[in-house]
Amino acid sequence: MSIKNIATNSVVFNAFSKVLSNYYHSQYGGIILAYHEIDIERFKEHVELFRKHEIVSLSEMVNRKKKKLSTKYLVTITVDDCYLNTLPALCDYCSATQIPITFFVPTDFIEGKALPPFIFNNIKKLSKGRKIEINNHFYDFSEEPAFHTFFNSLHDLMYYQSEKEYKPIWSQIMNQLVEQEVCQLADFNEHNPPVNWDFIAAKSKNDLLSFQSHTVTHQAAVGLSATQFEMECKQSKHKIESITNKEVTHFCYPYGGLKNIGSTAPTIVQKIFDSAVTMVRGRIHAQQNDYLLPRIPLYDLDTKQRTILKTIIK
Ligand SMILES: [Zn+2]
Repeated sequence: MSIKNIATNSVVFNAFSKVLSNYYHSQYGGIILAYHEIDIERFKEHVELFRKHEIVSLSEMVNRKKKKLSTKYLVTITVDDCYLNTLPALCDYCSATQIPITFFVPTDFIEGKALPPFIFNNIKKLSKGRKIEINNHFYDFSEEPAFHTFFNSLHDLMYYQSEKEYKPIWSQIMNQLVEQEVCQLADFNEHNPPVNWDFIAAKSKNDLLSFQSHTVTHQAAVGLSATQFEMECKQSKHKIESITNKEVTHFCYPYGGLKNIGSTAPTIVQKIFDSAVTMVRGRIHAQQNDYLLPRIPLYDLDTKQRTILKTIIK
């Protein structure tokens, strides 16, 4: 059978990708899954796929890696940002089925401040078709190319710079949209809400449910000074520890790409935490930096088949 025939025959393709996926699980290290928002039924499907492997806590995965023990067939589940539409169902399910899971908590978000990407998306949505003056430059956002070029570069500022660089621009746009009676200031803060501290305090009593650091303000590490980044690591760690009465030993970089992280942040994280995860795709290898661990992101659109294909990775 030719490759083309295999790819067009879904039964054969499914069997073929399962064999390939099993080969990667048997030859290479474990995987750390990265979720943000996820439907509980989809999550259960994913767990079913990995049930035949061993689902271990992030601490277990990191400890085995550090001791140079094999991580083959191991799967660790992590969830970023702590959304209210996701965590309660996941906590109930993982408690009932005895599955360890790690949640990364951006502390300002829990305190009620919208994560920067929500504010950015609201500004972008409300600016469409409007005329705005920014830094004495006039923009007509009814013109598609101008709109996209401007918001792509504003998006990059959020991913690679500190909020000192992008918030003054956000303010100019927000104020003019309010003046033009397009919306109210509060509309820019519309967001998917997180769980609250009471929830985290209650759930953290269960050792299967672990709450770890994801900074205070959810800014890109590369955009912050070393001092400011270190302060955010320590402040978030202390805040979560004060709520959970458990040590916070793992860290997750906001945005998570190597370019969002930069070269200084991992050396700072190393002084404070046992490990750090990224959004770089890959499996765990003994030689990897413990402070730049790869993960495999999964979303609602990841059917069992897509999830199997995503695990065919070194
Ligand atoms: Zn995040």
